[in-house]
Amino acid sequence: MIKFLDLSGQYEGIKDEIDGAISSVLSECAFIGGKHVKTFEEAFAAYQNAAYCVAVGNGTDALEIALEALQLNPGSEVIVPANSFIASSEAVSRTGHKVVFCDIDPGNYTINAEDACQRITGKTSAIMAVHLQGHPCDMDPLLKLARNHDLKIIEDCAQAHGAEYKGARVGCIGDIGTFSFFPGKNLGAYGDGGAIVTANPGLAERSRKIANHGRLTKYNHEIEGRNSRLDGIQAAILTVKLRHLESWTEKRRFVAATYKKLLKDSDIITPVEMDNVRHVYHLFVVRVGNRNFVQKELKEHGIATGIHYPVALPHLQAYKHLGYSSDDFPVATRYSGEILSLPVYPELRTDQIECICKHLRNTTSSSL
Ligand SMILES: *Cc1c(COP(=O)(O)O)cnc(C)c1O
Repeated sequence: MIKFLDLSGQYEGIKDEIDGAISSVLSECAFIGGKHVKTFEEAFAAYQNAAYCVAVGNGTDALEIALEALQLNPGSEVIVPANSFIASSEAVSRTGHKVVFCDIDPGNYTINAEDACQRITGKTSAIMAVHLQGHPCDMDPLLKLARNHDLKIIEDCAQAHGAEYKGARVGCIGDIGTFSFFPGKNLGAYGDGGAIVTANPGLAERSRKIANHGRLTKYNHEIEGRNSRLDGIQAAILTVKLRHLESWTEKRRFVAATYKKLLKDSDIITPVEMDNVRHVYHLFVVRVGNRNFVQKELKEHGIATGIHYPVALPHLQAYKHLGYSSDDFPVATRYSGEILSLPVYPELRTDQIECICKHLRNTTSSSL
């Protein structure tokens, strides 16, 4: 049996450190705010090379708070890639903006800047760059669009902790970046968690206010905000895990390289890594012609896989009212029927990767 994720294996490797961190939070009763949260914010800002980090309740809140902090024109349009998790687009609608979807790049599966350009109107205020699967978006063309059309760039880095574009860690390449610490992410808490990073002190301060009832100090509520906080236990856990993240990321990259080597000259299309980026392989997504059959066959051999995502966002029930057709997003629509996420995590052994590749080769047909 090969699991899709092995969180218990990871915990076993760092059990003493984690248990120690949790018990110190318990004995200090530092449940909300306090030193563990501050320590984590500083460590994560340093890791992402960000001037500011504001820890919040989860990755979806991080997106909503970041969008609100940007103070975009009410009702303005935000361009979101058609292949992402629904949180990316949900946050846009929930903060009073209109979602405008665009297609993805056929090579690296992230937002297609040329297509995004076609969707810009007089009402567009921002572009959401989702660094999907751990691969950074091609940021230069997006930054150029932002300059030429006076747009903000928000980076959804939920799948891209430690990823780099031309030497820069994601999150502060655009105006503001958001992270999720959902347990299955590359840096995962033992519950919900999220963070906002930015190089802009004004955006950092506004984000912090919004996340904490519109205040920076007790009872001094300058605006109406909300409650979205990372708790002390999660912060302490994340601080421990952050120390291991580089070595875990290198192991993910090794797993990916092994897959690519073993699947060379087959009918299986493996992910490409652009020049000048560091892909952190939150997911290892291949494409095959007979996807559903392949997934079923692998399952019968005890190999768990996933599909990220089976339906492109514009085609979900939630977005029917936008009236898009599949012709509007040819790449995202076609890929949603071909993509298959293979197990990728630091604990995955080479003999397991070999087993997965053997069964994959046996079940794929060249119908792509
Ligand atoms: C996981 C994820 C989110 C949401 O994060 P939560 O912490 O689960 O709210 C947002 N965007 C993307 C791309 C994600 O993968």
